[in-house]
Amino acid sequence: MKTATLLPANRTIRINNIFCVGKNYADHAKEMGGDVPKEPIIFLKPNSAVVQNGESIIIPDYSKNIHHEIELTVLIGKKGKNIPQSEALSYIAGYGVGLDMTMRDRQAEAKKSGNPWSIAKGFDTSAPLSSFVEATSVPDPHNLEIRLSVNGTERQHSNTRHMIFRIDVLISFLSSIFTLEEGDVLYTGTPEGVGQVVRGDILIGEITGIGTIHHTVQ
Ligand code: MG
Repeated sequence: MKTATLLPANRTIRINNIFCVGKNYADHAKEMGGDVPKEPIIFLKPNSAVVQNGESIIIPDYSKNIHHEIELTVLIGKKGKNIPQSEALSYIAGYGVGLDMTMRDRQAEAKKSGNPWSIAKGFDTSAPLSSFVEATSVPDPHNLEIRLSVNGTERQHSNTRHMIFRIDVLISFLSSIFTLEEGDVLYTGTPEGVGQVVRGDILIGEITGIGTIHHTVQ
Protein backbone atom coordinates (compact mmCIF):
# COMPACT_ATOMS: atom_id res chain seq x y z
CA MET A 1 0.00 0.00 0.00
CA LYS A 2 1.33 3.44 -0.93
CA THR A 3 0.48 6.39 1.25
CA ALA A 4 0.63 10.16 1.12
CA THR A 5 1.42 12.38 4.08
CA LEU A 6 -0.54 15.56 4.59
CA LEU A 7 1.29 18.31 6.50
CA PRO A 8 1.30 19.92 8.98
CA ALA A 9 -1.06 17.44 10.69
CA ASN A 10 1.10 14.51 9.49
CA ARG A 11 -2.06 12.71 8.40
CA THR A 12 -1.52 9.51 6.39
CA ILE A 13 -3.82 8.97 3.42
CA ARG A 14 -3.86 5.86 1.27
CA ILE A 15 -3.04 6.74 -2.35
CA ASN A 16 -5.79 5.67 -4.74
CA ASN A 17 -5.65 6.41 -8.49
CA ILE A 18 -2.80 8.45 -9.96
CA PHE A 19 -3.87 10.66 -12.86
CA CYS A 20 -1.36 12.57 -14.98
CA VAL A 21 -1.69 15.32 -17.56
CA GLY A 22 0.50 15.46 -20.66
CA LYS A 23 1.69 18.62 -22.44
CA ASN A 24 0.13 21.07 -19.98
CA TYR A 25 2.74 23.80 -20.51
CA ALA A 26 2.99 25.29 -24.02
CA ASP A 27 6.80 25.42 -24.07
CA HIS A 28 6.98 21.74 -23.09
CA ALA A 29 4.42 20.81 -25.78
CA LYS A 30 6.70 22.65 -28.22
CA GLU A 31 9.88 20.83 -27.10
CA MET A 32 8.03 17.52 -27.52
CA GLY A 33 7.30 18.52 -31.10
CA GLY A 34 3.53 18.63 -30.72
CA ASP A 35 0.70 21.12 -30.84
CA VAL A 36 -0.87 22.57 -27.73
CA PRO A 37 -3.70 20.14 -26.86
CA LYS A 38 -7.33 21.26 -27.21
CA GLU A 39 -8.45 18.95 -24.40
CA PRO A 40 -6.37 17.61 -21.47
CA ILE A 41 -4.24 14.57 -22.34
CA ILE A 42 -4.81 12.11 -19.49
CA PHE A 43 -2.87 8.97 -18.59
CA LEU A 44 -2.49 7.00 -15.36
CA LYS A 45 0.34 5.58 -13.32
CA PRO A 46 -0.13 2.48 -11.16
CA ASN A 47 0.07 2.80 -7.40
CA SER A 48 3.18 0.60 -7.44
CA ALA A 49 5.12 3.39 -9.19
CA VAL A 50 5.20 5.64 -6.11
CA VAL A 51 8.42 6.30 -4.22
CA GLN A 52 8.61 8.62 -1.25
CA ASN A 53 10.86 11.63 -1.07
CA GLY A 54 14.47 10.49 -0.61
CA GLU A 55 14.05 6.99 -2.04
CA SER A 56 16.05 6.01 -5.13
CA ILE A 57 14.80 6.09 -8.71
CA ILE A 58 15.81 2.80 -10.32
CA ILE A 59 16.58 2.70 -14.05
CA PRO A 60 15.50 -0.65 -15.48
CA ASP A 61 17.50 -2.26 -18.26
CA TYR A 62 14.64 -2.03 -20.79
CA SER A 63 15.08 1.71 -21.33
CA LYS A 64 18.10 3.67 -22.47
CA ASN A 65 16.61 7.13 -22.06
CA ILE A 66 14.73 8.10 -18.89
CA HIS A 67 13.69 11.73 -18.51
CA HIS A 68 12.87 13.89 -15.50
CA GLU A 69 9.60 15.86 -15.41
CA ILE A 70 9.03 18.03 -12.34
CA GLU A 71 5.33 18.62 -11.63
CA LEU A 72 2.99 20.19 -9.11
CA THR A 73 0.87 17.38 -7.66
CA VAL A 74 -2.60 17.57 -6.19
CA LEU A 75 -4.08 15.29 -3.52
CA ILE A 76 -7.85 14.86 -3.76
CA GLY A 77 -9.59 15.02 -0.39
CA LYS A 78 -13.13 13.83 -1.08
CA LYS A 79 -15.25 11.84 -3.50
CA GLY A 80 -16.70 13.63 -6.50
CA LYS A 81 -18.28 13.11 -9.92
CA ASN A 82 -19.17 15.78 -12.50
CA ILE A 83 -17.59 18.47 -10.35
CA PRO A 84 -18.22 21.99 -11.66
CA GLN A 85 -15.12 24.14 -12.17
CA SER A 86 -16.43 26.61 -9.61
CA GLU A 87 -16.29 23.94 -6.87
CA ALA A 88 -13.22 22.02 -8.06
CA LEU A 89 -10.61 23.56 -5.76
CA SER A 90 -12.68 22.59 -2.70
CA TYR A 91 -11.99 18.91 -3.53
CA ILE A 92 -8.24 19.39 -3.00
CA ALA A 93 -6.71 18.26 0.30
CA GLY A 94 -3.16 19.32 -0.47
CA TYR A 95 -0.42 20.18 -2.94
CA GLY A 96 2.93 18.46 -3.37
CA VAL A 97 5.99 18.06 -5.56
CA GLY A 98 6.25 15.10 -7.91
CA LEU A 99 8.47 13.71 -10.62
CA ASP A 100 6.83 12.07 -13.63
CA MET A 101 9.78 9.88 -14.60
CA THR A 102 9.38 8.85 -18.24
CA MET A 103 11.06 6.32 -20.51
CA ARG A 104 11.28 8.65 -23.49
CA ASP A 105 12.47 5.88 -25.83
CA ARG A 106 9.62 3.53 -24.87
CA GLN A 107 7.12 6.39 -25.05
CA ALA A 108 8.31 7.35 -28.55
CA GLU A 109 7.95 3.72 -29.68
CA ALA A 110 4.44 3.56 -28.20
CA LYS A 111 3.40 6.83 -29.85
CA LYS A 112 4.71 5.63 -33.20
CA SER A 113 2.92 2.29 -33.04
CA GLY A 114 -0.25 3.66 -31.41
CA ASN A 115 0.22 1.57 -28.27
CA PRO A 116 -0.41 2.65 -24.65
CA TRP A 117 2.20 4.49 -22.56
CA SER A 118 1.83 2.28 -19.48
CA ILE A 119 5.37 0.90 -19.47
CA ALA A 120 6.97 4.25 -20.38
CA LYS A 121 5.13 6.09 -17.60
CA GLY A 122 4.30 3.46 -15.02
CA PHE A 123 7.42 1.41 -14.24
CA ASP A 124 8.47 0.97 -10.60
CA THR A 125 9.87 4.23 -9.11
CA SER A 126 8.40 6.36 -11.93
CA ALA A 127 6.27 8.36 -9.49
CA PRO A 128 8.39 10.09 -6.82
CA LEU A 129 6.13 12.10 -4.50
CA SER A 130 6.82 14.54 -1.70
CA SER A 131 4.56 15.12 1.29
CA PHE A 132 1.54 17.31 0.62
CA VAL A 133 0.83 20.62 2.32
CA GLU A 134 -2.72 21.55 3.28
CA ALA A 135 -4.51 23.26 0.39
CA THR A 136 -5.70 25.99 2.75
CA SER A 137 -2.09 27.13 3.20
CA VAL A 138 -1.60 27.65 -0.56
CA PRO A 139 -3.22 30.98 -1.52
CA ASP A 140 -2.70 30.62 -5.29
CA PRO A 141 -1.63 27.29 -6.81
CA HIS A 142 -1.34 29.04 -10.18
CA ASN A 143 1.51 31.29 -9.12
CA LEU A 144 4.24 28.98 -7.84
CA GLU A 145 7.86 28.85 -8.95
CA ILE A 146 8.77 25.32 -10.04
CA ARG A 147 12.32 24.16 -10.63
CA LEU A 148 14.46 21.06 -10.92
CA SER A 149 18.21 20.69 -10.75
CA VAL A 150 20.35 17.70 -11.69
CA ASN A 151 23.72 17.47 -9.92
CA GLY A 152 23.39 21.13 -8.94
CA THR A 153 22.64 22.43 -12.46
CA GLU A 154 19.20 23.88 -13.06
CA ARG A 155 17.36 21.99 -15.83
CA GLN A 156 13.75 23.12 -15.44
CA HIS A 157 12.43 26.44 -14.14
CA SER A 158 8.98 27.88 -14.73
CA ASN A 159 5.88 29.04 -12.91
CA THR A 160 2.58 27.19 -12.53
CA ARG A 161 0.83 30.22 -14.05
CA HIS A 162 1.92 28.85 -17.43
CA MET A 163 -0.32 25.76 -17.20
CA ILE A 164 -2.57 25.44 -20.25
CA PHE A 165 -5.40 23.71 -18.36
CA ARG A 166 -5.69 25.05 -14.83
CA ILE A 167 -6.28 22.78 -11.87
CA ASP A 168 -10.01 23.54 -11.58
CA VAL A 169 -10.43 22.74 -15.28
CA LEU A 170 -8.47 19.49 -14.88
CA ILE A 171 -10.48 18.32 -11.86
CA SER A 172 -13.78 19.15 -13.53
CA PHE A 173 -12.71 17.36 -16.73
CA LEU A 174 -11.34 14.30 -14.91
CA SER A 175 -14.46 13.98 -12.77
CA SER A 176 -16.67 13.95 -15.86
CA ILE A 177 -14.99 10.66 -16.80
CA PHE A 178 -13.65 9.13 -13.56
CA THR A 179 -15.22 9.20 -10.10
CA LEU A 180 -12.62 10.96 -7.99
CA GLU A 181 -11.92 9.60 -4.51
CA GLU A 182 -10.03 10.69 -1.45
CA GLY A 183 -6.41 9.72 -1.99
CA ASP A 184 -6.38 10.26 -5.74
CA VAL A 185 -3.26 12.09 -6.91
CA LEU A 186 -3.05 14.33 -9.95
CA TYR A 187 0.24 15.20 -11.68
CA THR A 188 -0.48 18.52 -13.38
CA GLY A 189 2.14 18.42 -16.14
CA THR A 190 5.74 19.50 -16.54
CA PRO A 191 7.23 22.73 -17.86
CA GLU A 192 9.96 22.83 -20.51
CA GLY A 193 13.51 21.63 -19.94
CA VAL A 194 12.94 17.88 -19.61
CA GLY A 195 16.05 15.78 -20.11
CA GLN A 196 17.81 12.50 -19.53
CA VAL A 197 18.99 11.20 -16.20
CA VAL A 198 21.69 8.57 -15.67
CA ARG A 199 22.76 6.42 -12.76
CA GLY A 200 24.41 8.47 -10.04
CA ASP A 201 22.48 11.67 -10.80
CA ILE A 202 21.05 13.63 -7.89
CA LEU A 203 17.71 15.31 -8.58
CA ILE A 204 16.41 18.13 -6.42
CA GLY A 205 13.01 19.58 -7.21
CA GLU A 206 11.39 22.55 -5.54
CA ILE A 207 8.06 24.31 -5.72
CA THR A 208 8.08 27.52 -3.72
CA GLY A 209 5.71 27.35 -0.78
CA ILE A 210 5.05 23.65 -1.32
CA GLY A 211 8.28 21.81 -0.67
CA THR A 212 11.27 20.04 -2.10
CA ILE A 213 11.98 16.56 -3.42
CA HIS A 214 15.35 14.83 -3.43
CA HIS A 215 16.17 11.61 -5.30
CA THR A 216 19.24 9.71 -6.42
CA VAL A 217 19.13 7.72 -9.66
CA GLN A 218 20.39 4.14 -9.51
MG1 MG B 1 4.51 14.61 -17.15
